[in-house]
Amino acid sequence: MKFPALEKHNLQDMPFTCAQCSYCQVGNGSCPTYKTKYLESYSAKGKMIIARSLMQGRLPAREGLEGLRDAVFGCTLCGGCEEVCQVDIPFVKVYQLLRNDFLNRGMWPEELVPMRDTMVETFNIQGQDNSERIDGWSYWSPQEDLLEEKVGGKAKTAFFFGCASSFRGISIQATIATFLIMEKIGEDYTMLGEEEWCCGAPLIMTGDFETARKFAMHNIEKYKELGVQRIVTNCPGCYKMWAHEYHEFLDIDVPFEIVYGAEYLSNLIDEGKLQFTTPLDLTVTFHDGCDAGRNSGFYEEPRKVLEHLPGVEFEELPHNKANCFCCGSGGVLRPVDADFAVHINKLKVEDIEQTNADVVASACPTCVDFMFDQLPQAGLQRVVKDLSVLAAEALGFTWDGLDEVY
Ligand code: SF4
Ligand code: SF4
Repeated sequence: MKFPALEKHNLQDMPFTCAQCSYCQVGNGSCPTYKTKYLESYSAKGKMIIARSLMQGRLPAREGLEGLRDAVFGCTLCGGCEEVCQVDIPFVKVYQLLRNDFLNRGMWPEELVPMRDTMVETFNIQGQDNSERIDGWSYWSPQEDLLEEKVGGKAKTAFFFGCASSFRGISIQATIATFLIMEKIGEDYTMLGEEEWCCGAPLIMTGDFETARKFAMHNIEKYKELGVQRIVTNCPGCYKMWAHEYHEFLDIDVPFEIVYGAEYLSNLIDEGKLQFTTPLDLTVTFHDGCDAGRNSGFYEEPRKVLEHLPGVEFEELPHNKANCFCCGSGGVLRPVDADFAVHINKLKVEDIEQTNADVVASACPTCVDFMFDQLPQAGLQRVVKDLSVLAAEALGFTWDGLDEVY
């Protein structure tokens, strides 16, 4: 048996490269899905053994493929295995290519079909009217008219929201915070509003590269029309698409500089543009979202921002940076198996419980949204906030939405 998508990217040898050392199953920060299910197939090693056996004809095709499919889609694409693998298998890429192979074999998980239909129909994963990307919450912004005026203007810098940051109450706070910061420093920027479509991450991550291409090309054309040269986004999943995966999976060369939100704030600090004056008086810990940390390498930028916030005592999670546990919401696992994602989140809860933090900060709208939802259900009373919200508060900003959400 062959896996054509792996062959196309010259990665067909990877299942044979695994040395079966089991580093990906044990130790600090290792696989959250294996640590939760304790099934060999849910570890990187297990998936490589099944793929290898299928390629060698040692496993009955149907059963082997079904087992591999369940494990490959039951993965958060957190990159933990890639981090520890002694033979450097690029797992996050390998899993997305295998997902593409399953789509092409007609073995895509049926739970993903409504997700794709929703995206194609509404241009966002929440299935909301796309005009609500701004109209749905602009009344929360202290400068509503200014926010609306920015839509569709010509500028070199664009603020790309992403779906979570447009439609989920807690994540919208980070969008408002970034808007206020951009206004404060006099940034000349634009936004697409209703014309912003999903970046396509849920499609690329589940292997539907060709549907994702329509989303990528739409946004690229819209930005070209506005003369954009640089895109700032708070979402590390969107960042990863724009900065890496359009090129890697769709062969699209993105003609813009891509800047991640925490990197943007860190650069503003270096340029002396942010004067934090309001003490926050909080103990804060930080969750490295997988697409920001392991999958993109932004470890120092958010910590530098936290260091500069007055009245913040910083405490690392026991598993942090490259060893940080996934919160459970990565890899489009939730539409496939929401209960599994919740079980994985317990690893995060156990880590946070060991700190004295009042606030769990992160710089990922999806992680913030999921932890905001799950921590209270696990009986853990900690505030979850996006890094940019903390930065805006330390700049003295406050707005109605903050009170409503928190
Ligand atoms: S990407 Fe994360 S969840 Fe998936 S197999 Fe690797 S360590 Fe496990
Ligand atoms: S760490 Fe890498 S080489 Fe070792 S068992 Fe896991 S996938 Fe194989």
